[in-house]
Amino acid sequence: MNMQTRRKDLQNTIARAAKASGRSPSDIHLLAVSKQQPDALIEAALQEGQRCFAENRVQEAQERWTARRAAYPDLQLHLIGPLQSNKVAEAVALFDMIHSLDRPKLAAALAQEMRKTGRSLPCLIQVNTGEEPQKAGILPPDLPGFLLECRDVHGLEIRGLMCIPPQDEPAALHFAFLAKLARRLALSDLSMGMSADFEKAVPLGATYVRIGTAFFQPRT
Ligand SMILES: *Cc1c(COP(=O)(O)O)cnc(C)c1O
Repeated sequence: MNMQTRRKDLQNTIARAAKASGRSPSDIHLLAVSKQQPDALIEAALQEGQRCFAENRVQEAQERWTARRAAYPDLQLHLIGPLQSNKVAEAVALFDMIHSLDRPKLAAALAQEMRKTGRSLPCLIQVNTGEEPQKAGILPPDLPGFLLECRDVHGLEIRGLMCIPPQDEPAALHFAFLAKLARRLALSDLSMGMSADFEKAVPLGATYVRIGTAFFQPRT
C-alpha cells in the first residue's frame, strides 16, 4: 500500500467512526507521528497534502522540520513526548502545540519562555490515567489543582488533555475516563488514540489522534 492509499484509508476510517457516533469528521485531527521515519516517507506525506505532524523529541524534530517549516508555511507541528526544562526554548520556537505538559516545573518554564518570546502555544495536560509509576503525566486527583495553577499562576492556554493508556489494559476505559475528566473541567480537546486504538478513541471524543506506524511504516 502506498502513502496515498494509507492516508485516505485512515481518513475514511476516522470519518466513519465519527459519523457512527454522531460526530463531525472535521472535529478530529489526524496527526502523522513522524518520529524515526525516513525522509522519503515524510516527503511523500507532504506531497499528499498532510500538514499536521507530531514528534516526541525536540532535537529530532528540529533536524527533521526546521528547514521544511520554511518551505511549508501551513505546517502544524505538535510535541507529544516528554519535554525537559532545558529544551523549552527550542520547543516553543519550533512547535505549534504541546500535548505533554506534565509537571509544575514545566508549566513555569513554558510560561516564562512564552512571555519572553511573545510566542504563545496552546497546551494539553498529559494525564497519567493508569497511575503508572514509570509514566509521565499528572495524576487524576491532582488535575484540577494543576489546571488552576497553569491558568491562574502561569497564564497558560490549556485546551485539553492527553493520555497514553497502560499497555495491558483496555484503552477504551482510559479514553472514557480522560473524556470524563475533560468534561468536568470544561476542556474541549482530547489527544488520545494511536495506530492500534484510534478507532476506539474517536467515539469517546478524541479531537487529536496520533498515528505513527499505520500512517508511515513500523519504526526501525
Ligand atoms: C510514537 C507515539 C505515537 C504513535 O504511535 P503508533 O503506535 O506508531 O501510532 C503516539 N503517541 C505518542 C505519545 C507516541 O510517542
